Amino acid sequence: MANSRTISQIIEPQYVIEGADVLLRRSIAPKKSNEFDPFLLFDHFAFNDPIEGPIRGFPMHPHRGIETVTYMLEGATHHRDSLGNEGTISAGDVQWMTSGRGILHEELPRRGESGNIYGFQLWVNLPSKLKMTAPRYQEVNAATIPTYEKDGIKIRVVAGQANGVVGPVTEIAASPLYLDVELASDTDFIQPIPSGHTALAYVFEGEAVFADKTIEAVHLVKFDDGDSIRVRSENKSVRFMLMAGQPFKEPIAPYGPFVMNTMEEIQQTLVELRNGTFIKS
Ligand code: MN
Repeated sequence: MANSRTISQIIEPQYVIEGADVLLRRSIAPKKSNEFDPFLLFDHFAFNDPIEGPIRGFPMHPHRGIETVTYMLEGATHHRDSLGNEGTISAGDVQWMTSGRGILHEELPRRGESGNIYGFQLWVNLPSKLKMTAPRYQEVNAATIPTYEKDGIKIRVVAGQANGVVGPVTEIAASPLYLDVELASDTDFIQPIPSGHTALAYVFEGEAVFADKTIEAVHLVKFDDGDSIRVRSENKSVRFMLMAGQPFKEPIAPYGPFVMNTMEEIQQTLVELRNGTFIKS
């Protein structure tokens, strides 16, 4: 590749409490500066310590103007929404939820056989023309997420394409790439990413050299522009989520679980929540 991307930023996730007593590691959150456009938030939830007590979750809450992407590695998340959808996102499953003009939902984590809960939630922005689109789910069962496996590289392809393997999540405005990548020690990995797209890697196990920097778990890295990323594992294996997408380059007005383009649209959203017209059938 002619123009391999270098690293522009290394982010140390911060522990935060969200929802009802959910402890999670947050790397990015919606901000007006929109520096990770089209990505808004990346949360890593892991409650492996029994001293944390009973598992809480995210009771009924609204979303508008964004997509929330839940990917579970261990345990499960039970969800239920205002439109009558209900289901369980189990280990290895993905739920790509386009909130569009609005949903109210609850997300309740459940321990797996190991006793652990481990997963990620990514928020992807919607462009202004789709913020009020009808809500839509793409739910992908673990068994139907295609995997590429060769020469020490294992990639589960959620969205986009890697080594000719195409992910099942489609027709997303940001044209995203979302990969779960595992490299054995002493392995080289190159992934093409269109120039101009924002690219992030969340390193959550092991360590490897990303571009020319050694990154160990747990860190989020942001790449500079270029047409590919290059990762090389040395003595250790590594596992990371790789995400890339086309920025919308629009102003954003984030407010809790809503991300619109203007404060007027946020005000309107709050009015609709109060007067009961938020959910549109
Ligand atoms: Mn939610």
